[in-house]
Amino acid sequence: MTKVKRVYSFGNKQAEGKADMKSLLGGKGANLAEMNLIGVPVPPGFTITTEVCAEYNKLGKKKVIELLKDEVKQAMKNVESIMGYKFGDQDNPLLVSVRSGARASMPGMMDTVLNLGLNDDAVKGIASKTNNKRFAWDSYRRFVQMYGDVVLGMKPASKEDVDPFEEIIENVKSSKGVENDTDLTTEDLKVLVLRFKKAVKDVTGKDFPADPWEQLWGSICAVFDSWMNERAIVYRQLNQIPEEWGTAVNVQAMVFGNMGDSSGTGVAFTRDAATGENLFNGEYLINAQGEDVVAGIRTPQQITKEGSLRWAKLAGIDEDERITIYPSLEETMPKIYKELNEIQKKLESHYKDMQDLEFTIQEDKLWLLQTRNGKRTAASMVKIAMDLLREGAIDEKTAILRLEANKLDELLHPVFDQEAISEANVLAKGLPASPGAATGEIVFFADEAETWKAQGKEVLLVRIETSPEDLAGMNAANGILTARGGMTSHAAVVARGMGKCCISGAGSINIDYKKRQLLIDGKIFKEGEWLSINGSTGEVYEGKIKTIDPELSGDFGEIMKLAFKYRKMGIRTNADTPQDAWVARTFGAQGIGLCRTEHMFFEEDRIIVMREMILAENEAGRRKALEKLLPMQRSDFEGIFEAMEGLPVTIRLLDPPLHEFVPHDQENQKVMADDMGVSVEVIKKKVEDLSEFNPMLGHRGCRLGITYPEITEMQARAIIEAALNLKAKGIKTIPEIMVPLIGTVQEFKMQEEIIRLTAEKVFKEKGDTIEYLVGTMIEIPRAAITADEVAERAEFFSFGTNDLTQMTFGYSRDDAGKFLPVYIEKGILKNDPFQILDQTGVGQLIEIGVKKGRSVRKNLKIGICGEHGGEPSSVEFCHRTGMDYVSCSPFRVPIARLAAAQAAIKEM
Ligand code: ADP
Ligand code: MG
Ligand code: MG
Repeated sequence: MTKVKRVYSFGNKQAEGKADMKSLLGGKGANLAEMNLIGVPVPPGFTITTEVCAEYNKLGKKKVIELLKDEVKQAMKNVESIMGYKFGDQDNPLLVSVRSGARASMPGMMDTVLNLGLNDDAVKGIASKTNNKRFAWDSYRRFVQMYGDVVLGMKPASKEDVDPFEEIIENVKSSKGVENDTDLTTEDLKVLVLRFKKAVKDVTGKDFPADPWEQLWGSICAVFDSWMNERAIVYRQLNQIPEEWGTAVNVQAMVFGNMGDSSGTGVAFTRDAATGENLFNGEYLINAQGEDVVAGIRTPQQITKEGSLRWAKLAGIDEDERITIYPSLEETMPKIYKELNEIQKKLESHYKDMQDLEFTIQEDKLWLLQTRNGKRTAASMVKIAMDLLREGAIDEKTAILRLEANKLDELLHPVFDQEAISEANVLAKGLPASPGAATGEIVFFADEAETWKAQGKEVLLVRIETSPEDLAGMNAANGILTARGGMTSHAAVVARGMGKCCISGAGSINIDYKKRQLLIDGKIFKEGEWLSINGSTGEVYEGKIKTIDPELSGDFGEIMKLAFKYRKMGIRTNADTPQDAWVARTFGAQGIGLCRTEHMFFEEDRIIVMREMILAENEAGRRKALEKLLPMQRSDFEGIFEAMEGLPVTIRLLDPPLHEFVPHDQENQKVMADDMGVSVEVIKKKVEDLSEFNPMLGHRGCRLGITYPEITEMQARAIIEAALNLKAKGIKTIPEIMVPLIGTVQEFKMQEEIIRLTAEKVFKEKGDTIEYLVGTMIEIPRAAITADEVAERAEFFSFGTNDLTQMTFGYSRDDAGKFLPVYIEKGILKNDPFQILDQTGVGQLIEIGVKKGRSVRKNLKIGICGEHGGEPSSVEFCHRTGMDYVSCSPFRVPIARLAAAQAAIKEM
């Protein structure tokens, strides 16, 4: 048996891992290794693999520690020899950090423990070695706090509770009359450590562990445990990260940003994560450690002078104040800045993508602690990909593959109406953390944001700052506004990742959670009142402001052109109105893949006639009503054909069960009774007759046209007449008539005959002809399985994957909300199959359908028109099965086009 390697070391420009080992070492571990290999200064350490996480979940703590022990000891020796310190030593102690790191970066998901290895003896050793007592005790109190929160589980579960350690700090600070942590003296810090340890004892009933090895194993296990904590699970669900990936654990020698004024810590981006501008930027704090910069405790300073000037302007800070209180790193530590700037260039050109860096300066020496491809907004994603392409760093295919198709959605979202905004009242200004426009009712707590949203409200989450617990609520909100925190605060980073509009650090907003209100500019706003925010400018407005659709040009247009060049499938749209058809066309739709005719019947004047038809006594009555509907349908089709001039338009015949159209209330039944000259009882009886036990499996789809052929006749006539009318005006149309919900070829045949006979009639009447196709939806499993029979007659197939999913799983789409979330939570299903095509099950039916269909009709035109047609992974599947096109809602056309291009490139 070959021995499994569970621990990978790095340090001193050597590493056992490298960048492409992300699945084994996690993103952080793989990149720490890679940075070593390319000569970037990184503190030495080692990575415990993601495979161990799976072992941990299976075997438990004890067994896994046993499995790891020797390798970890060995790796620790390597770190000790590089650093010249010893883990667990009293005089010369090596301190380490324990950090999580999954394959895909999960910001803030996993908790890091810093300064591990300290105890009452080691703190003295560090103090005398560094000749810096304050630093030693500051590190110690941080360690006890982090270990208490993360490993011993003392972090409060509820949002309204205060962290017990923060509470102690606040008490000490206020009794000393100081404001900043940095103002606390060594003696104060000693008091903190004592009180922290007492709090630990009080809560856990045990002494704070003094043995560094016990501390280490405790932290390693806590990282593995955190993979299964609630916020990690929520993040994985939102981002479709499989549970079995697991997290790696990184143990790394500490470097200290809290050793005084020649030390500090910061984060940086090689380009602007919000706009994509090619400008190195970031934030730092002097004499700080770890998360201080992102936690919003102190106001962070900018790294570059240019960034600092821009920031000051936005924040309304004059040059005197800026240069004395908030100078840039470029100004305070020019040498370090120069080195950092070289490193950021090196990293970006090495990874050929925008990097998000974490660094620490320990007594004038720079260390890199992390690099990863930076999260970014959609606008930034598009600009950076196109810029890198133009700079020659990447080629066209790489540029396309770099883009996250779903993210384009953000660019298609609304911005504020210019006119409305010019009259709006600006209440406050914060940092433009994530662009876009959002308006909603103020809500202060993330879980309430979720509930309100579920009640159909539009909400704006307003918080002092956000934390990973708020994730689901942030996702539910239209936008996020925080009073504290910089451009790299939790709120800002997460919002950009989600593509949510966000303003952070709007300092003039005073939030009172208890009173559930906020004070801006002397005005009180209560929970439930409307605010609007502009994440591109940082402006907060009073009230609800009108939003409009964005313009698509520039780099977006370039990307779409490239995507068009590489994609093989056509992209059509699902559109029922000329308006939708126009929108889709401007987004590049190459036709309509699904035009549902029933929506046309719901408008005011029509619904009455429609009801007359349904409620009619007999065929004669139905025909009378259909005659009235005919001109309405015809003009609808003319509008749509005209909008789609020269492009194919697939029109589906009437599909839903008829009871959906009839009135169920007394008042409207009376209207119909009067209209039709019968008693209300007659109407009532007829409505009752129409009700079904399983309407979705009932009298609908082609079953309507088979029982009432006159409906099919009318619709076919409306389509053909509309096409001929346009032809007479010189407008080219390509009608494709689609029969819904067939399970047998006989059903199709019957409908097809009616359609063709009607068309012949119309041709004769008009003395002109046009070409048209008659095809069918494949949405019943039987139709997919017998696709060879169906294709003998049908000229095209369109997979109706909503119904096909419903019928393959046997899940009622309208009732699945009750159990699907549980299925996903319990891991029975990975995703909602109504959103992401189930390639294994439903996908097989599609493959069978395509194969059998083409076996009898080689050039059978095949597409998809379910919701899945706009979902990137499903689009890729459609490409692989050889479909000719996908069809999706207008706003998803660009997404589908990009996904189709990516699918084609991946196959090359
Ligand atoms: P996250 O995954 O949330 O980004 P990290 O593991 O990167 O968490 O750690 C959080 C913070 O702690 C970072 O700012 C990082 O710079 C800092 N940190 C981690 N390890 C060390 C170390 N060995 N020395 C100094 N700072 C560290
Ligand atoms: Mg980090
Ligand atoms: Mg259907």
